[in-house]
Amino acid sequence: MSWVRSRYLLLGEREYRDGAGRRVRMAYSTRQARLFALDAETAARLAGGELGGLGEERLRELAARQAVVDEAEDELAAVLGAYREGSDAAGSRAVTVMPTSYCNMACGYCGQEHFKAPVDRARVDRVAARVEALLADPATEEVVVTWFGGEPLLALRVVREMTGRFLAAAAQHGTRYRARLVTNGSLLTDRTLRELHHELRVEALEVTLDGPQEVHDRRRLKRNGRGSFHRTVGVLARAVREGTVPGLRVGIRINVDEENEEHVPDLLADLACFGLASPQVEVHPMPVHSWGNDVSAVEIGARRYAEREAGWLRLARALGLGFPTMPNVVKRTTCVATSTRREILDPAGRVYSCSEHPLVPGAAREGVVATVDQLTGAAPRPRGEFDDWYEQVGDGSQQCGRCPLLPVCGGGCPKLWRAGHMPCPSVRFNWAERMDAAAADLGLVPVGAG
Ligand code: SF4
Ligand code: SF4
Repeated sequence: MSWVRSRYLLLGEREYRDGAGRRVRMAYSTRQARLFALDAETAARLAGGELGGLGEERLRELAARQAVVDEAEDELAAVLGAYREGSDAAGSRAVTVMPTSYCNMACGYCGQEHFKAPVDRARVDRVAARVEALLADPATEEVVVTWFGGEPLLALRVVREMTGRFLAAAAQHGTRYRARLVTNGSLLTDRTLRELHHELRVEALEVTLDGPQEVHDRRRLKRNGRGSFHRTVGVLARAVREGTVPGLRVGIRINVDEENEEHVPDLLADLACFGLASPQVEVHPMPVHSWGNDVSAVEIGARRYAEREAGWLRLARALGLGFPTMPNVVKRTTCVATSTRREILDPAGRVYSCSEHPLVPGAAREGVVATVDQLTGAAPRPRGEFDDWYEQVGDGSQQCGRCPLLPVCGGGCPKLWRAGHMPCPSVRFNWAERMDAAAADLGLVPVGAG
């Protein structure tokens, strides 16, 4: 067999000493989403593409990590094949359910248009029946429900009622059921949080906090003019401190743009002070795409953001806050829009393929791929606007086909690419700094330090 360096191997530049005093460099296989240290000589040979002299045994060890591959392997085809397989897997179904189209906040950067509508029993029934049909299908092994909005906690009664039906169907058919919830946090109480986790089986909660109190409450103002920072953080902090929701994973999303980027370090310090430095909590800063359509400006914006984010990562970790270094899972599908086994159901029973279509003026009408009444049983939703994504990546018309991060990124967001934006996650530009942070976790000491 003739071995070559994998196109999906990232190699850090910096040298470290490990516990035994050996010189090593960090490496990351995106095909396995795994970080590891490599002795400096092997790393140099991989970097230079000179694998001769490494020896068959060493090469086989590297092959087990997919750091090297058989020259004959078409790696892009293999990665896209895995994506197609993951996207088509009949056993794994995911549904985003929007129990309400209203939100009690009106954030300036939100693209949704919210409106109040009374709960329509017949529609609730039809939406629930669709999810029940997925749970009942003999081919389904697992259904993951994401409660999304508007603000889903405004319709907690609907969430309760539907969950009761989903759990009953899951038990009856022996199907795994998991749930997560995306919320603005303003309606959380100690009791609601416990109910969400223990009774409504929410395993992961994503809450958005855009800065320390005065910044968050300015940017994410409730329609009644009140802020929600202290209440949200207080509920989360008590839950962590008292251990009331032990299995719940809490993600704190920070939507970052030019208006609040200066305040991210203060927010991180506040979160640590409130006691949220816990293995249960992770912070997820995300850039708000506000850099326009000029690709070079977008790239500068993305690089600048990534540089700042690397600083936040260092600060967060110094404060003990959870902030993942490198992605630790290989993606099965890019997003809901690239798998017909995933769908979004709005309160009226419209079925969408992309999460940025419902409630968004224009897209809310054009993006409908079906209604729940038109779908029979557990039939996959019809193809939507972005279900041809892997063809585009494979035929070279998207640069993601040439990117080493494809296995863990999937191409970011097909919708943003089509709109002329560059949705690359920050890791594309700051993976070297992230690997440095990971090296510190492993106890590696930079060569030349101390
Ligand atoms: S295409 Fe983009 S906006 Fe639509 S579901 Fe995928 S990631 Fe989300
Ligand atoms: S979106 Fe960017 S980082 Fe992700 S695969 Fe495409 S080019 Fe790479």
